[in-house]
Amino acid sequence: MYRTHNCGELRIDHVNQEITLSGWMDTSRDFGGMTFIDLRDRYGITQLVFNMDDDAKLCESARKLGREFVIRVAGKVRERSNKNPNRATGDIEIEISHLEVLNAAKTPPFTIEDNTDGGDDIRMKYRYLDLRRKKVQQNIIFRSNLAIAARKHLAEQGFIEVETPFLIKSTPEGARDFVVPSRMNPGQFYALPQSPQTFKQILMVSGLDKYFQIVKCFRDEDLRADRQPEFTQIDCEMSFVTQEEILNTFEGLTKSLFKTTLGIELADFPRMEYDEALRLYGSDKPDLRFGMQFMELNNLAQGKGFSVFDNAELVVGICAEQQAAAFSNKDIKILTEWMQRPQIGAKGLVYVKFDENGNVKSSVGKFFSEEQLKAWGDQFGAEPGDMLLILSGEAEKTRKQLSELRLEMARRMDLMKAGDFKPLWVVDFPLLEWDEDAERFHAMHHPFTSPKKEDVARMLDGDHETMKSLKADAYDLVINGAEIGGGSIRIHDRNLQSRNFDLLGFTKEEAEDQFGFLLGAFEYGAPPHGGIAFGFDRLCAVMNGQASIRDFIAFPKNNQGKDVMIDAPATIDQEQLNELNIDLQKEKID
Ligand code: ASP
Repeated sequence: MYRTHNCGELRIDHVNQEITLSGWMDTSRDFGGMTFIDLRDRYGITQLVFNMDDDAKLCESARKLGREFVIRVAGKVRERSNKNPNRATGDIEIEISHLEVLNAAKTPPFTIEDNTDGGDDIRMKYRYLDLRRKKVQQNIIFRSNLAIAARKHLAEQGFIEVETPFLIKSTPEGARDFVVPSRMNPGQFYALPQSPQTFKQILMVSGLDKYFQIVKCFRDEDLRADRQPEFTQIDCEMSFVTQEEILNTFEGLTKSLFKTTLGIELADFPRMEYDEALRLYGSDKPDLRFGMQFMELNNLAQGKGFSVFDNAELVVGICAEQQAAAFSNKDIKILTEWMQRPQIGAKGLVYVKFDENGNVKSSVGKFFSEEQLKAWGDQFGAEPGDMLLILSGEAEKTRKQLSELRLEMARRMDLMKAGDFKPLWVVDFPLLEWDEDAERFHAMHHPFTSPKKEDVARMLDGDHETMKSLKADAYDLVINGAEIGGGSIRIHDRNLQSRNFDLLGFTKEEAEDQFGFLLGAFEYGAPPHGGIAFGFDRLCAVMNGQASIRDFIAFPKNNQGKDVMIDAPATIDQEQLNELNIDLQKEKID
């Protein structure tokens, strides 16, 4: 037998029992007559003791063990004289009578501990060693718990899990497809799904009523810290539902996941219209852990001779509470330079400080009287000690810049508290987005999203300008400034779907060619339906207060989209290329 117990299991009650453990050699300490070894497995660490006086040969063998050797030991549990309250097994240790090396190990290229000395690249190359680290294992275990909790909750609500194919035809979710050549159909390609969107809608036409799937999706995008070319969604769809019912159902799922995996009871989620989110926070995914709502100052700040403001479409600011003293001129200079970096592109940053004695200090003190500046403060409801930060310029751009500033201030003021969760439904998204450069509409969510009932007639008959004002039954779930989920009520009527394709610039033939199956299905009794998909990796990260989804994926890709452990992507041999009818030489010349 390899083990009677695991390395996290033994307690004071086990004292005097003869046990067997197997695991990895974590650390060893030599004290002349005694050798201590920490034995590690997924469940924890147990201290082993080898005593020179009892068995010199055994003790010698123990001293020869290297880090990460896989061993099996047998011995007797005894109470420790020097207890370790920080460890679950800290009350006991094992007096070893038998040691067997199951497998030797080379010295690992980095230390297997929370604060490892290994950089990103080396840890990715030796991911199997990285995954031995407790921190990383806990993330993967959390992910497993979350998936199991989601399945359980959804099954209890009557959802059924259906697998949809990976080898499909392009679904437009706004990214590039990964494609797979078909050997049996020379010159033809499958696309990997960007999401199971059309399939889940077809399942509704089939009458399955409530579908879910924890499913891989593939999008060939440039990578950012929180993006991976393959990622996982909790994908859901329901029939005969209104937006209201969907929001309630998936608010229920989210609450249940927080409760079962973190023991946290979330209060009811507030809702905010998309337009309002942009007006108050300059973002459709505002972080509500802190205030600093936007306040527009056009009425007070314009027409007073300060040309920068006078020429701006929008003058808008935030109020940072009790920061007048905290931010010196030098700090504000650094903040201004941060805002002027090309990534953000602000021209300048205006501040107004209200100190504890009622004095006002501002970078535009020359242009505005104290009275006028105090009136700005009143507009914000500013208290003594507060500081206003104001930007101006073209409205949309300025709001985006101020949104970045709001987040940066929250970081500097330490307002993004771990363990504080502020979910929010953002609703009433526009249906279509006009792309100035390409001179065409894009679907704000995706082409299957339904306009609001009251906008259907306008969508069918309206002119170009009208299309810009159509609202959709589309919603996002945002938690702490991260988009966790998004979905919509779908179009289930062939005519309306055709009209949408038309507005999105598809010719009749293109629409038929790409989505004929869906349009066809709509002619055979498609029920009203809608759904949502949660970004599962991101949900894991946000629930653990972390920014990167990579730490919650067992085998993630790096920034170049590579898996450096298996060395993928890679070239394939000529024979395989021939079979697939791919002529790389020809492709290059063309
Ligand atoms: N398929 C959508 C997405 O991947 C989600 C949905 O509309 O249900 O974002």
